[in-house]
Order: sequence, then structure tokens, then C-alpha cells
Amino acid sequence: MNVDIVIVGAGPSGLCLAKSLSGQGLKIAVVEQQDIEAIARPVFDGREIALTQESAKTMKALGLWELIEPHAISPLRDAKILDGQSQFEMLIPHQLSHYSELGWLISNHLIRQAAYDATQSAIELNGDITLICGHKVIKVKTDTANAKVALDDGAEINAKLVVAADNRFSTTRRMMGIAADMHDFGRNMLVCCMTHDKPHNHIAWEWFDYGQTLALLPMNPDPVSARYRSSVVITVASDEAEELMKLSPEAFSKNAKERFGNRLGEMNLISSIHSYPLVSVYPKRLVSTRFATVGDAAVGMHPVTAHGFNFGLLGVEKLSKEILTAHKLGKDIGDQSLLLRYERTHRLKTKPLFMMTRLITEIYTKESPPAKLLRKALLHISDRLTPFKRSIATSLTGR
Ligand SMILES: Cc1cc2nc3c(=O)[nH]c(=O)nc-3n(C[C@H](O)[C@H](O)[C@H](O)COP(=O)(O)OP(=O)(O)OC[C@H]3O[C@@H](n4cnc5c(N)ncnc54)[C@H](O)[C@@H]3O)c2cc1C
Repeated sequence: MNVDIVIVGAGPSGLCLAKSLSGQGLKIAVVEQQDIEAIARPVFDGREIALTQESAKTMKALGLWELIEPHAISPLRDAKILDGQSQFEMLIPHQLSHYSELGWLISNHLIRQAAYDATQSAIELNGDITLICGHKVIKVKTDTANAKVALDDGAEINAKLVVAADNRFSTTRRMMGIAADMHDFGRNMLVCCMTHDKPHNHIAWEWFDYGQTLALLPMNPDPVSARYRSSVVITVASDEAEELMKLSPEAFSKNAKERFGNRLGEMNLISSIHSYPLVSVYPKRLVSTRFATVGDAAVGMHPVTAHGFNFGLLGVEKLSKEILTAHKLGKDIGDQSLLLRYERTHRLKTKPLFMMTRLITEIYTKESPPAKLLRKALLHISDRLTPFKRSIATSLTGR
């Protein structure tokens, strides 16, 4: 098969890239190792994705936003940061941004569903995307003239450019010999949906407690019971996470209520619980000869600053703009200078927050008496620094 671009991975980033390139005279192939069923009808995976205002704009431009039912899009009005057992809270109000909410929350499986549906519409309209599901890319070979990928059924695809959108542990990135800095935090994130008695007022929480980190992502009320509803994220050592996963729904609900210091009143588990190991990844290079990475394959963020998919969309926007500009001018879409420009811009946008996130998690997981004092002092000082809080608000909106 001969195409212009092969995208490896039909996750939200890969599908959004295909959609953004469609209708412009390019032939695109998307290869996905999972069966079509898993891509066409994604199931709940626990993740509630905090989206910046900029990501909302991109999703609207790609036609994804209108495919999501309005009640499934929850406003993230403000955010607050808590430390240890202190009652002190650092509030990041939306007033520090230019918006009436800092961002939005949408379940990951609904984003994936919308990405798939939008891609299907593009396929029907333009006929320029071939979605190959149930097959793994097992080999990538590129040179200055051409790129080639081999699938596990022996099929080969020739292209001008290969884009890896195959997650943070990207095997295609490794096949291209690109090394990556990986950091295993030795912890797991448990994510689930819970209803509770006390209102969240659409404020997201990040609570750096001792021995655990808790997050609360405020969702619209439960459509069944009309109770307050949130996505709950509990980050603990991996063995403790395993024990928590074994609890009955009742025992888990009681445990969560206690962890949250009863601040939300009675809590009830209303979904399955999903566990994610915490590993952040930043590749040494984002591109190579006729090869680029997007999504988690380009930047594997720690979820605490909620920027993984936001960076994914940013990369999709930048890379597709570069490709389409070159294509319209009749230039080579796999040209090295184009790819290097993308790499430079995407690094500049993502590396500072990636490093900052590492630093925050380092500081706020240390628990020696001096470290606890430092944590407390930093939060109190930061609370008085309005420009600092404004920069957090700006980062959450994505401006
Ligand atoms: C607990 C948690 C909370 C999060 N919260 C947020 C948040 O609030 N805000 C935010 O912006 N982000 C958040 N994220 C990050 C976000 O979920 C990811 O950035 C996003 O889902 C990555 O999408 P992707 O398409 O890049 O990769 P993936 O969704 O991992 O998709 C990769 C695809 O590639 C396929 N694939 C892999 N290898 C091959 C191969 N060799 N051949 C063919 N196919 C292959 C896989 O099957 C998969 O379908 C969170 C993540 C977690 C774990």
C-alpha cells in the first residue's frame, strides 16, 4: 500500500491527527493494534480528562466537541491545592484567567468516541483515510527518500512520513532508535467516579496529603440520582493500590470518605475502578528521518498537572499545520526542516511544564519533618504571589 502518511495508533491523538489532515488531498493510513470494536465503541476507562480552553477550541475546530452530549461536559471553574492535614487551601480562581471557567472535564472514552466518529465522517466525506485495525506495526524503516512500515500480517505500507501516536512507551519510537528519559514514581493512580453529599462547587482539588495524593475532578450531577458527582483520583504506593482494588464497593466508598477527611460527606462508588502506574516519559528527540511523534509518544506527562492530552492536541495542531503548509506549496511533507521546526516548537511548549511537574511531585511527596515545613511554607508563600497564581490559571486554560 502507498500513502502519504502512516499514523501508528488510533488513540485520541492519532485519530485527531488523521481528522485534521483529512480533506486536503493527502492519503492517510492509521494502523491500530486493537480490534475495531475497541476503537469504535470505547469503554469507560476511569479517566476524566481536564481540558484547557485552548483544547476545547481545537476539539471544536475538529468537530469533536459537538459530538459530545452537553451534560457530559463539566465546567472546571476553579482549582485548589491542599497540603497534608492543614485546613489551608490555595485557591486558583477563574477570575485570574480571561474565562468564566478554567477549563472543562470530559471522560476519556467519550473523547475517544468523538474522535472515532469524527474520523468516520471524514472517511465518508473525503475517502482519504484507511483505518487498519487489529494489526500491529512491527517494523519501521526510513531514509531520506522514503518511509516504510511493516505490519504483523506481513503487509507493508510505503509513505513519505510516519507519525507515532502509539503511547508513552512507543515501540515505533524505539524502533527508530530514539531514547527517552523515563521516571517511574513507584506509585499507582486509582481513578473512579463517585457521588457525594457535599457540593464541589465545580472546584478541582489537588491534595498532597501524607502517604497519598488525592484529586477531585468536579463533574455535573449524576444523571440517575442527581447527587453531586466527581471523578476521584487516589495516588498511593503500588501495593496499597492493589489492596484498594480488592475492596467491595461499600468498603471502597467508606475508605474514600475517610481519605478525604469526610470533607465531602458520604461518598459512593458508582463506576469501576481503574489503576494506572505512574511513569513519566520525555523522549530525547521528537522526530527523526521522515518520522515524528505526537500525543503521549511525544510527551508522557505525569497526570497531576492534567496536561497529557492537552499537549497531545497542541502537537497535532502544530504538526498538521506544518504538513498542510508544505503540501499546499508542493513541498515534501517529510522534509527534515519541517520536522525540526515542529520538534523545536513542541519542546518549547511542553518541556518547562514537564520539568515543573517533576519538581512539584518531588517536593510534595517528601515527608521528612523539614520537607513538611518546606511544603507548607511554599504553599503559603505561593498563595500571596498573585502573578504566580495567575500563571497557574493561565496554564490551566492553556493560553
Ligand atoms: C489517570 C490519568 C488521568 C489523566 N488525566 C488527564 C487530564 O486531566 N488532562 C489531560 O490532558 N490528560 C490526562 N491524561 C493523559 C491522557 O489520557 C493521554 O495523554 C491520552 O489519552 C493519550 O492519547 P494518545 O492517543 O497519545 O495515546 P493512547 O491513548 O495510549 O493511544 C495509543 C494507541 O496506539 C496503539 N498502539 C500502540 N502500539 C501500537 C503498534 N505497535 N501498532 C499499532 N498500534 C499501536 C494502542 O493500542 C492505542 O490505541 C491522563 C492520563 C491518566 C492515566
